[in-house]
This record gives sequence, structure tokens and C-alpha cells, in this order.
Amino acid sequence: MTDSAIAPLAHPPTVEPEFARPPLLGMTLPELTDWVQTQGQSAYRGKQLYQWLYQQGARSLADISVFSKAWRAEVQDYPVGRSQLHHRSVAPDGTIKYLLRLSDGHIIETVGIPTDQRLTVCVSSQVGCPMACDFCATGKGGYVRNLALHEIIDQVLTVQTDFERRVANVVFMGMGEPLLNRETVVAAVHCLNQAIGISQRSLTISTVGIPGQIRRLATAELRATLAVSLHASNQPIRTQLIPSARQYPLADLLDECREYVQQTGRRVTFEYILLAEVNDEPEHAVELAQHLRGFQSHVNLIPYNPISEVDYQRPPTRRVNTFLQTLHAHHIAASVRQTRGLEKDAACGQLRASKIQAGQ
Ligand code: SAH
Repeated sequence: MTDSAIAPLAHPPTVEPEFARPPLLGMTLPELTDWVQTQGQSAYRGKQLYQWLYQQGARSLADISVFSKAWRAEVQDYPVGRSQLHHRSVAPDGTIKYLLRLSDGHIIETVGIPTDQRLTVCVSSQVGCPMACDFCATGKGGYVRNLALHEIIDQVLTVQTDFERRVANVVFMGMGEPLLNRETVVAAVHCLNQAIGISQRSLTISTVGIPGQIRRLATAELRATLAVSLHASNQPIRTQLIPSARQYPLADLLDECREYVQQTGRRVTFEYILLAEVNDEPEHAVELAQHLRGFQSHVNLIPYNPISEVDYQRPPTRRVNTFLQTLHAHHIAASVRQTRGLEKDAACGQLRASKIQAGQ
């Protein structure tokens, strides 16, 4: 950070006032080193700050006991960029849903999903979501704004601290459409990798598909996994489920995904929600297989998680299995995503802003 960032602004701020002093969380080691030096401290304090922010999860500069008391008192109000825990609910399967309050009062959701092997965090990339997919609770509450870098990193640190366990995987599958906040999400991937030590291969960015954005993401040359929410085997069903698909023909989306594979050498995951008697017939599986023949990809089938606003049904297990077997019979790599956190509305597509704001 430079001095100019904390100098008085010539124009009224267009962002939340707190951001007039950019929060420290999300900054790289060189940026933190610059910042401590602008505060009159020695460069090595930058390394200490970096470790305390990302490894110890310091929530305030006042907590950093290796700093001198006098300097701590001076900078104790400087924004670190941590959100407040508003609510926490534990599902019977051990999944924990967190409601986090941002500095401007908005609430977002984050989910911690433990297994014996690893802890996964499902992070939000926006407050709400503008995509309005018919089956998804987040879209029903509307859209407020993109998350800032520190607000994404904070989610991972919050879960890591609460579970007292290292986060192994991060999936951008919480509230929001990550590719509408692409630059911040790419910065978050680098920060989670470099500062928190999570392998890029253990990070997944899930998108419904925004024209041109997958191509732009490819230029970032990440080793993270791209997951694309396909949900339909043809354009008419897709537009029925996903309003934005009207401006993005399925064939064009698949072309962009193919280019992504060519450019990055990474296979793409296709997410496919199974909605009873909407897109779960064996002929839909055959149609999907035809699109994906020879495509370096993996299909992730997600049995629909119910939300109150719409009356879609989750297909019975035998229909899910038939769909899976049909894909396999056509040599398509596919698996069924295990549902987690259903009892606490923490499963895929059940994260929402509206009810939470009312404190429910
Ligand atoms: N906007 C991004 C990421 C958020 S949603 C995207 O669309 O990919 C993460 C995944 O959960 C997406 O595949 C989304 O379509 C799926 N999902 C949404 N609502 C769901 C529901 N009710 N049941 C199961 N999965 C759902």
C-alpha cells in the first residue's frame, strides 16, 4: 500500500468508507512490507504481519503480540478486514453454516464441510446473486454487490479457525456468480494458494457461464478447477432453468469450455442438477453424452436440494443411478455429489440472503 491510499480523497468515496483505508487481509507479502514501512516500521515487521494474518488468523493488529505495545496502540483501529460471526448452525452430518456480517452490515453465507480426509469450505463471491436461476435460493433474494478480496479470504480463515483444522479444499459455490467478480476471485485463488498454503488444484471455481468470461479466466493460467453449471442437455431446458442462458447458446458455452481445456490442459467439471421429470430422463443423459463425447471433462450430478419457492422434486435414487449408468455406458466420466448440510439449509443452492437479514 502507498501513502496516497490513506490520503484524503479528492472526490467522495464510491465504496464503503472503510475501504478508504484498504483492509490488510488479501495483501501480498511485498504489499504488507510496504505498508509497515509507510507506518514507520522496519521491513521485517511485514513478514510478521503476513504470518499473523494468514497463519494465526489475527482479527486485529492489537492481537499481534510480537509488535511493540506502543505501535499496537497506534494502529489498533486500522481495518484488518475480518467479518463478524453473525450466526453459526451445525447440521447432524457435521457441516457448519456460518452467517457472516460484512463491514457494511450485509450478511453472507459460508459453509464448512468436513470429512475424515479433508475440510472443504464453500465460499460466497457476491452478496446475493443476479443470475436468478429458477431452482436456486440465492437468486430469489436478489443481488447486492461483489465481495472484496478480504471478504472472501476471511471466510476461509473463519472456518479454519472454528474447526481448528487446516482447510484442504475451497469451492466457489456459495452465494453469487464468481465470474461476475472474476478479478477478485482470481486474486483470492492466488492469496489462498500463496498466503494460506492451499494447493491451486484444490480450489474450484463454479460458474453458470457468462459469455467471454471463461476465455478471460483461461488467461489467468490458474491450476484451479473450472466447474460449469450446465444443468440441461439442450438449450430449451437450459433457458427454462437459467434465464441468462437465453443470451448464451449451449453450443457457444461448450465451445468456450473446449477452448479452456485446450488452453489450460485442465479438464472441466460439468455440474448437472437432477430435477425429477425435468432433465433426468435417460434420453437427457444420452443427449448430454453426445455433447461431451471426447471432451476432457467430468460430470458431477447433483440431486436437487429443495427450496420453498419452487416445486421441483428431487428424483428417486434409482432414477439418479439410471442417469449415472447411462452416462457411464456412453463412456462419460461422471459421479453423484453427496448431499451435505441439507438439514440446515446449507446444501448447494439453499444459501439465501433474505431470511437471514431478518435474523431467522
Ligand atoms: N453461480 C455459480 C456458483 C454458485 S451455486 C454457479 O452457478 O455455478 C453452486 C452449485 O449449486 C451450482 O451448480 C448451482 O447450480 C447448484 N445449485 C443451485 N441451486 C441448487 C439446488 N436447489 N439444489 C442443488 N444444487 C443447486
